[in-house]
Amino acid sequence: MEKAVLITIGDEILSGNTVDTNSNFIATELKNIGVQVSQIFTISDEIETIKNTLKEAFKIGDLIITTGGLGPTRDDKTKKALAEFFNDEIALDEVTFDHLRTYMEKRGRLEILERNREQAFVPTKSTVFQNNFGTAPCMMMEQDGKLCFSLPGVPYEVKPLIKDQIVPYLKEKYSLNYITTRIISVVGIPESILADTIENWELALPENLALSYLPIGTRVKLRLTATGENEVGLQQQLEEEIQKLLPLIKDHVIATTEDKIEKILGELLIERKLTVSTAESCTGGELAKMITSNSGSSKYFLGGIIPYATEKKIEILKVSKETFDEFTVVSEQVAQEMAKGCQQLFGTHISLSTTGVAGPGKGEDGKDIGTVFYSIRVNDKEQSSKLYMPHLERQDFMNFVSQKILQDLV
Ligand code: ATP
Ligand code: MG
Repeated sequence: MEKAVLITIGDEILSGNTVDTNSNFIATELKNIGVQVSQIFTISDEIETIKNTLKEAFKIGDLIITTGGLGPTRDDKTKKALAEFFNDEIALDEVTFDHLRTYMEKRGRLEILERNREQAFVPTKSTVFQNNFGTAPCMMMEQDGKLCFSLPGVPYEVKPLIKDQIVPYLKEKYSLNYITTRIISVVGIPESILADTIENWELALPENLALSYLPIGTRVKLRLTATGENEVGLQQQLEEEIQKLLPLIKDHVIATTEDKIEKILGELLIERKLTVSTAESCTGGELAKMITSNSGSSKYFLGGIIPYATEKKIEILKVSKETFDEFTVVSEQVAQEMAKGCQQLFGTHISLSTTGVAGPGKGEDGKDIGTVFYSIRVNDKEQSSKLYMPHLERQDFMNFVSQKILQDLV
């Protein structure tokens, strides 16, 4: 089992109405058991197209996974294409029908329509993997030692089918190796200097370990991947190597797990018993949203405001009118005074503020779009910074700035 091919079926994906997230999920899960996806096809709900693509896919891979087009509606044609491609008939499968009936009864649907019953018809040569989250079963066909799985399109049905049934099945059948990864997040050091700093450690890594660099904004994620038969052993091995790595870059490491920055921050704030508040202009609440997306944030996040209008910055945050007149709204001084006002308003140890022009278009005071000043106030210490990100779309800009502030804070 080496190469996989994914086939995403659905007119709604080709028309741009639906983003194909299934392929991304499946490719990631397969990679974890060492199966490489070598090609992904996205095709329409047409029987001939599906059959032709299956033919191509069988030439390329040993494992084919299709998603979509298994629903009870007329536009879903995958099952018919499968039967024709494998020269098979479709017949009612009693076990699948029982499963379907139980599934529907549990959801209070006692009457089974013909359309629903048809869901339990499968190619006679197929092996069925029952779907516990929907009505379309997953079917596996085998040909020349190669496997073809057909799954429904709905992502929340695809995920458990792949993770809980198909991946364990493949692992068992082909005695596949485990692949375990750890991510170490590093800030404040350019990728090239980082690479120099850890070169000797990297060169001494055991053969079953591989390192890759993933720069994300101002952060670099180091991904360490271990391959082997014993999952627990691999985790231990990764941990040992990480312990050797940490002293080399200790001032720059912000996380040795894949946790999000808001979670890392949350743990730090709880540990140090610190509270935080936000006053956001150009980020429009994104920063507060990010902080509160961590469960348990009520322990340290006391509140935030979005004083968008200049008058509100003056009225609520007590930014002085003179500061606006002298320095304009998008300035370091306004960011500083906003943070100070916010800290007083909420009575927190830490306060965060943003003022800038998210764009598109020009700011009133003529400053270019993409300019932002933010201020981080911790007790009576204050640190403000400027960012200039003119190439970012509005939402990406807000997201980037908020991420950056949280990274600076940790
Ligand atoms: P169902 O049994 O629910 O009808 P189905 O096999 O017919 O499933 P589709 O009709 O193709 O699946 O898609 C069902 C839903 O899942 C649609 O909302 C579709 O937009 C979404 N979907 C389909 N394929 C994908 C995909 N590759 N990535 C993300 N969403 C998808
Ligand atoms: Mg469809």
